[in-house]
Amino acid sequence: MTGLIFNIKRYAIHDGPGIRVTFFMKGCPLGCWWCHNPEGIRGDIQEVDRVDRIGDKEFTVKETVGKHYSVEQLLEIVKKDMVFIEESGGGVTFSGGEPLMQTGFLAEALRAFSEEEIHTAVDTSGYAKREDIDSILPYTDLFLFDIKHMEPEKHLKYTGVSNELIQKNYDYILEKGKKVIIRIPIIPGFNDDDEQLNVFRDFVATRHGTNVDRIDLLPYHRIGSSKYKKFGLEYKMKDVEQPSTERMDRLKEFFAESGINVKIGG
Ligand code: SF4
Repeated sequence: MTGLIFNIKRYAIHDGPGIRVTFFMKGCPLGCWWCHNPEGIRGDIQEVDRVDRIGDKEFTVKETVGKHYSVEQLLEIVKKDMVFIEESGGGVTFSGGEPLMQTGFLAEALRAFSEEEIHTAVDTSGYAKREDIDSILPYTDLFLFDIKHMEPEKHLKYTGVSNELIQKNYDYILEKGKKVIIRIPIIPGFNDDDEQLNVFRDFVATRHGTNVDRIDLLPYHRIGSSKYKKFGLEYKMKDVEQPSTERMDRLKEFFAESGINVKIGG
């Protein structure tokens, strides 16, 4: 069995504890307006035109996005970085896209890393079938769980899916005793009004127990916007400003009142 991956990031330091290797898997059931990895949304290999510049000349180059890897190939890649991973208390992270779109491969890969005693994390939107979550639970040490909005309709409008299944899966993962880092993208005009922030904070405060390690507040940025045209997608957030450092500091204090550690960025 192989998995379809569009990027591999070595020496990653924002995707879980320590130094990690992060595998970005293709395919996502959501289509968030602010997604900075639009190349991860479609679940197939894509051929796109990339424009390169040398001086004032432009060249169009064909680019293939997505490549199949076996579990053995992933192990080989990670073993090259084991010194850094071990010394830093790191591991591997599966991100995307939505890694649970390729559950068979994901479960096989997580099991292989667990057998090597390498820490495993899954960065998920939480939008997945219960049986798919069950298949990875035994081999996943940490979930990086995205919570984007608490209202189903607004969630549907901005991501393409309602949030009901996501919230149920979040509770389920906590019930199963798994460690979680909550990731909240702070998107001006979408989820950063006072009312929504209060609902967010109440939601995490009432459920955190001992298994929620931290809340990561991820400030909106436009880093991925230049990729949209290449993938034939419309970038709908072009008029949205990035939140200021002062604003993020205030939000950090606000969420810290839930009693959970808060970090800005991943
Ligand atoms: S869930 Fe993540 S990968 Fe999927 S569209 Fe949203 S931001 Fe992009």
